[in-house]
Amino acid sequence: MEPAATDPTGDALAAAAAASSLVFLGTGCSGALPDARCLIQPSAPPCTVCSQALSLPPDRNPNYRCNTSLLIDYCHDNDTHKYILIAVGKTFREQVLRWFVHHKVPSVDSIILTHDHADAVLGLVDVWVVQSSNHRNDVDDQVAVFLTQFTMDSVAARFPYFVKRELEEGDETARLDWTIIESDVNKPFVSSGLEFVPLPVMHGEGYVCLGFLFGRKARVAYLSDVSRILPRTEHTISKSGAGQLDLLILETNQLHGVGNGRSCHLTLSEVNSSLDLTLNSYAIKRICLKKALLIGMNHEFEHHRENRMLTEWSHREGIPVQLAHDGLRIFIDL
Ligand SMILES: [Zn+2]
Ligand SMILES: [Zn+2]
Repeated sequence: MEPAATDPTGDALAAAAAASSLVFLGTGCSGALPDARCLIQPSAPPCTVCSQALSLPPDRNPNYRCNTSLLIDYCHDNDTHKYILIAVGKTFREQVLRWFVHHKVPSVDSIILTHDHADAVLGLVDVWVVQSSNHRNDVDDQVAVFLTQFTMDSVAARFPYFVKRELEEGDETARLDWTIIESDVNKPFVSSGLEFVPLPVMHGEGYVCLGFLFGRKARVAYLSDVSRILPRTEHTISKSGAGQLDLLILETNQLHGVGNGRSCHLTLSEVNSSLDLTLNSYAIKRICLKKALLIGMNHEFEHHRENRMLTEWSHREGIPVQLAHDGLRIFIDL
């Protein structure tokens, strides 16, 4: 997989214009990469992944990773496009400047929030710049935001001006229309014409984060912040359960963790560096999906090195698994 997915040309461009796609706006951890500490307090030898940030432009550097976020470019049957954003974190403005411009994304129609952590909601302060002019001028035409009551309460406490009804002329605040969703696989909701099934997962014990299953034709599951996949969620996305996934987008935060269940995130390789063992523990094999892309990586992951390792594993197991990278665009029939 090459960094900075390029736009198709000619006939492919016309076909792409009438297709749905997924744009990986961010594939990094909460702190985003490069990790500033590696640059202002460099270790000896210096961190190679973060050091690249000084020598390679971000659009050619797959190790430059913003907060995890996915943009769904949903093409309806009548060739109209709706843009659905999952998670809007601390680095949202940078992601807009880089990837909305590169992929010619004009605006956002609806937003789905996974949980209330800073790397998933703080970008709400900059959403007004991606609101279409219709949305901005018409109080009745607001950007729909889907979130749990828990996240709603948290956002309302931190940003009370988002939930006040009357905005004044010139307010640099998005006009948002909040809809409460349930952490329940049996309570799907529709965002910009596309149905989403909530996928509750543990994000550290005692904290539930939502992933989402979507797509009528291709089945896609997005799990961005997860330490443990709950049984009902696993059933919903398993070949042996509700149906085989075409694509699983799954968090893999650490390369060398202890995998003891105390972390808030998933780990790629256990202390014994047995990828096979760990991917088993992630349930990738149990879920039996057609393809997986990993997101949420910290600076232990060197994109090309880890993808070579994953390519070997994929050939052995027959399940394609690769690290995604910021700016990656995948055309998919939703
Ligand atoms: Zn580093
Ligand atoms: Zn989180």
